[in-house]
Amino acid sequence: MLAPADNDTICAIATSPGRSGVGIVRVSGPRSLAIAESILGFKPQPRHAHFGKFHSGNAEILDLGIALFFPAPNSFTGEDVFELQGHGGFYVLDNLLKETLLLGARLARPGEFSERAFINDKMDLTQAEAIADLIDCSSAQAAKSAMRTLQGDFSQLINSLCEAITEVRVYVEAAIDFSEEEIDFLSEGKIAEKLADVISQLESVLDQATQGAILKEGMSVVIAGKPNAGKSSLLNALAGKETAIVTEIAGTTRDILSEQINIDGMPLHITDTAGLRASDDVVEQEGIRRALAAIQTADRVLLVVDSSLDDVQLKDLPDFFTALGFGQLSEALDPPRLTIIHNKIDLRGEEPASNLIDGSDTSAPVIIKLSAKQKTGLQLLRQHLKDVMGFHTSGEGGFIARSRHLEALRKARENLLQAQNQLLNGRAAELVAEDLRHAHKHLGEITGEFTTDDLLGKIFSSFCVGK
Ligand code: GDP
Repeated sequence: MLAPADNDTICAIATSPGRSGVGIVRVSGPRSLAIAESILGFKPQPRHAHFGKFHSGNAEILDLGIALFFPAPNSFTGEDVFELQGHGGFYVLDNLLKETLLLGARLARPGEFSERAFINDKMDLTQAEAIADLIDCSSAQAAKSAMRTLQGDFSQLINSLCEAITEVRVYVEAAIDFSEEEIDFLSEGKIAEKLADVISQLESVLDQATQGAILKEGMSVVIAGKPNAGKSSLLNALAGKETAIVTEIAGTTRDILSEQINIDGMPLHITDTAGLRASDDVVEQEGIRRALAAIQTADRVLLVVDSSLDDVQLKDLPDFFTALGFGQLSEALDPPRLTIIHNKIDLRGEEPASNLIDGSDTSAPVIIKLSAKQKTGLQLLRQHLKDVMGFHTSGEGGFIARSRHLEALRKARENLLQAQNQLLNGRAAELVAEDLRHAHKHLGEITGEFTTDDLLGKIFSSFCVGK
């Protein structure tokens, strides 16, 4: 756990750089009131909007705007906070910031206001993270979910899991204390029942958190294939705009080209790659090298095939790659990460189709027939990509989460399953208690009940300055 916030006063421009109607300079810490008095020329009333002049130390007027003072502990950070809402021009805000620095504040580190709010118990860690996620989110659904996490929905679920674990721990630890009756006490079945309830509760939270993490982190998709198969056309069709250059000249896309789109709120980091073919051109070779590297790390690879020229079925894949001179791809592209796109079905007079029945078996390799140019069959592909990620949030009731939360939930589940196993096999209560303690600790890491300085540093340093 971090030590209580440094007792110094921090300041930052809280609005984004550039021109805007209003810009905000924020100050937090013990010198806030003195800074406010110097800039305003009077002592501001708590939580009162004062309209007036902002002065420098040598009586120059720096700006005209609204000033707000929030005395501790009733502020965002829990400390005295002073906010200047001035005009959103670079020099105006910079002058105001310099003035607060001259008056004894120091520049805030990224996320330091939120970090202080966390340290002063104004919010827990998931809520602090939700602030950054709300600012960064790339879809309306993600914003709604981040709001829910910010309001404490996720923390509440974690806290009630912790309470349920504590309840089981009380029983188990009582069994240790009254070791004479230990065997009967533990084998009564009541504890096993409670533990099974906790595990199913955790499974449900994990499922919801998985949706939340997909909303935040999304899915990486690489479009690969021979030159002219229609890769760039597919990127453009999915993005709904002309991002990549489409021509009949093979080898136009020589570098990887990324686009961020979203499917029903699920962010998709989609990358178009150089066409795979043997080439003497050094630029094209480098493009192909980058394409192969992107293929290695993607969540899903869409292999685009011009179905008017090639009829690639799943069994033909190794030969297809070998003929291209990229035999190594057969192994690198685990079938479960690969979707074959039979493009240009319009030239064959075919209808959009997929070999998926009800989108069910997403672990099997998939073939989707579509036309990137005519924009038919795209909905099949979109649904397939959501299914692959297990994304099914309807937009109602979800909350935002991060992969570190999933990791902690999975570790807690492992501990609980182990405790259950110990219990069913009549092992010592001490072992059960130990597993339960670990599960509780992992859950506590999510909300910040148990954390290390390293973790907090890592989380808050990724925030923007002024938040
Ligand atoms: P890339 O080299 O794989 O990126 O292929 P492009 O997207 O540049 O497309 C190559 C050519 O195929 C262009 O002339 C496209 O207009 C054409 N094309 C792409 N998709 C389709 C399709 O679905 N149907 C038809 N008829 N032509 C297509």
